[in-house]
Amino acid sequence: METTIFEKIIAGEVPAEIVYEDDRILAFLDITPVNVGHTLIVPKKKFVNIFDADPEVIAHMARTAHHIACALKEVTSCDGVNILMNNGAAAGQEVLHAHMHVIPRLIDDHAYQPVHNIPYDAHEGKEVAEKLKSKLA
Ligand code: AMP
Repeated sequence: METTIFEKIIAGEVPAEIVYEDDRILAFLDITPVNVGHTLIVPKKKFVNIFDADPEVIAHMARTAHHIACALKEVTSCDGVNILMNNGAAAGQEVLHAHMHVIPRLIDDHAYQPVHNIPYDAHEGKEVAEKLKSKLA
């Protein structure tokens, strides 16, 4: 599989503003931030996204996102934070090396378009909930 920009950052071949590192993950500033301080958390051992992820590493990334969110709130005085992960092209994933975004948000920054929510048809919600429940049991 093709080497991504994030593997080059992890290898030290491409510069980045690194804010946190340990044996499993690296966190650095996004090069085109939604707002100042926008940080990416990536696993050092590559997986593409949530579907081939090591759940322990995902849990570690989530814990680190919590730490980074709290630090960003103090450092940038942001009003809120989005923590998100785009998984697959349909979800907006561009770099095929898993990453979590920690994005400082400001009241009225208008960073995103409103999401279009679609209400369920008559029994659709119940049906999908039942299917999910049986998969997750
Ligand atoms: P996604 O759409 O979730 O795949 O997001 C990929 C993110 O990687 C984008 O927000 C880019 O701005 C960011 N990005 C791409 N190249 C670099 C780089 N060299 N250093 C830091 N962030 C990058």
